[in-house]
Amino acid sequence: MRIDVVTIFPDYLAALDLSLVGKARRAGLLDLRVHDLRDWTTDRHRTVDDTPFGGGAGMVMRPDVWGQALDELLTDPAEAGAGDEAEADVPPVTRGAHLVVPTPSGEVFTQRRAEELATEDRLVIACGRYEGIDARVVERYRASGHRVSELSIGDYVLNGGEVAALVMVEAVGRLLPGVVGNPHSLVEESHGAAGLLEYPVYTKPPRWQDRDVPEVLLSGHHARIERWRRDRALERTAARRPDMIAALDPRQLDAHDRDL
Ligand code: SAM
Repeated sequence: MRIDVVTIFPDYLAALDLSLVGKARRAGLLDLRVHDLRDWTTDRHRTVDDTPFGGGAGMVMRPDVWGQALDELLTDPAEAGAGDEAEADVPPVTRGAHLVVPTPSGEVFTQRRAEELATEDRLVIACGRYEGIDARVVERYRASGHRVSELSIGDYVLNGGEVAALVMVEAVGRLLPGVVGNPHSLVEESHGAAGLLEYPVYTKPPRWQDRDVPEVLLSGHHARIERWRRDRALERTAARRPDMIAALDPRQLDAHDRDL
């Protein structure tokens, strides 16, 4: 998969050289390219923002600069010169690239969205700053047939889209085949197919500061361990995320679950 991130702070994305995502890049599993939006400016001051029409606080990112960047990154080079019939100001639609625009006013980015994005060949993530990106940018790429997702990583406001991009690249990247060493570790996780939070986990030593690991986990009895884990996952989800319990399909519950 290829992911292009466009930002005015490319250094923010340096963390993506570390850990599993960094390893995936070096192994060629993830082609991640970080771009400085200012490279598409044409003025001496490399300006990317201006005052909002209608007044009000803050600055807004200019559509013309974003347009230069996104036309280049969203356009499939194989199609770029093709089609005399194409409208001059509308770039040919790329087959692969999906434009992701982080914004607190977007749909919430969930594990399901991460799974969907992980099936794409190419993502382009446009990191806003200030009061955000001029609204015509999203309108224009949708109108020209690109897939565009405006996504929020939660109900709070950050200073810029870079942290959201880090979240999305990591959540999507770890789903790519070969990135997480043991693919089984993806199966039982929180927000997985079971629709539950994960059960509590323990490691050595078996006793720490007068606290014992639950006896069942030391028993070696596979079926009892599975049952215990399922029960704890249900209890934890009911206590912390009743909305997830309400969203469960009753067919996902067994008779023992219903007694809990
Ligand atoms: N004025 C905008 C609003 O009220 O919706 C907030 C702009 S915010 C200060 C600047 C940039 O940070 C946004 O354009 C977006 O890229 C990013 N951002 C902030 N909070 C975010 C969130 N919860 N999820 C995703 N991106 C976010």
